[in-house]
Amino acid sequence: MTFSLRPTYDDPRTAELVDRLRGYLDGELADYERERGITPMGRLTRADLEPVWRRSRELGFYGIHLPKEYGGQNLTYTQLAALKEELGASGRVLSHCVLGDMGGPLRAGDILKYATRHQLDTYLLPLVRGERACCFSLTETDAGSDVRSMRTVATRDGEGYRLSGHKVFSSAGPFADFAIVVARMADTGELPDDKPRFSAFLVDLDSPGCRVEDGATPMSGEHIESDIVLDDCWVPTANLLGEEGTGMRIALGRVTTNRLLHCPSVLGATRRALDLTLTRARTRMVA
Ligand SMILES: Cc1cc2nc3c(=O)[nH]c(=O)nc-3n(C[C@H](O)[C@H](O)[C@H](O)COP(=O)(O)OP(=O)(O)OC[C@H]3O[C@@H](n4cnc5c(N)ncnc54)[C@H](O)[C@@H]3O)c2cc1C
Repeated sequence: MTFSLRPTYDDPRTAELVDRLRGYLDGELADYERERGITPMGRLTRADLEPVWRRSRELGFYGIHLPKEYGGQNLTYTQLAALKEELGASGRVLSHCVLGDMGGPLRAGDILKYATRHQLDTYLLPLVRGERACCFSLTETDAGSDVRSMRTVATRDGEGYRLSGHKVFSSAGPFADFAIVVARMADTGELPDDKPRFSAFLVDLDSPGCRVEDGATPMSGEHIESDIVLDDCWVPTANLLGEEGTGMRIALGRVTTNRLLHCPSVLGATRRALDLTLTRARTRMVA
């Protein structure tokens, strides 16, 4: 009896995309990793990632979910989930560079819809083209599930804001040019009956007062996490995303979409685990 978790798709468009993606992952990308000696436990550099961002963009995968005006193919969540499952099943170290999870359009999530013309031109369109990269900085040591207890604070100062705080678990931080940082507005949420207000900012990681430090290493063993340390870091008003006070809504909207997309990735990883287990069971020799 044969048993396979590898899905087939009735929708011809999804089937064609999945087929093309499998070909790229198992062919060109596998060769690239082999030639550069890229392994799961090694330390990736931006120089390893950038050629994959560019090639994936040429092939139409990088940012494929985006609307056509941003060079995407306006995929449905079902189609995007099918592609995410293939990435998870591939075992490629750089699979997270293909659709833009690692610093690209998928990391930015749906914040594009809040961006001003200036923010699109300076940050988000270069990101969609694979020329710039971002991380997303919401979590703090004591503010994970209970994210509203965050301590990073934004204080108005002239034509901008001063940000101070310490973010952890910013995935793609080691490769990013800028962070999407969520902070509590100063003088809000300090009294029991006063609700905190949050805002989201685009922060250049080379700004004075901003440091990118090595973050925790997750169980996968990859070095892809950073701490973002802000010490009186000045950010212009032009870098405020959406309206002041709407940052938590923007951030949680992004998180909801991205967490949904973790599910097909894990289904793909499960397929790979089954395949590896079957191969091992069929080929191992008992002494
Ligand atoms: C690999 C990885 C990548 C990440 N990338 C990013 C990123 O790019 N940007 C970013 O901002 N964050 C990122 N995070 C952080 C992630 O969003 C947080 O880990 C998550 O919000 C949970 O927070 P926590 O780890 O502090 O766990 P906690 O909030 O401390 O939760 C620990 C456990 O307690 C449970 N729990 C919590 N509250 C309750 C409750 N009230 N009742 C019952 N059970 C409860 C939780 O379900 C969980 O099982 C990443 C995390 C990981 C592991």
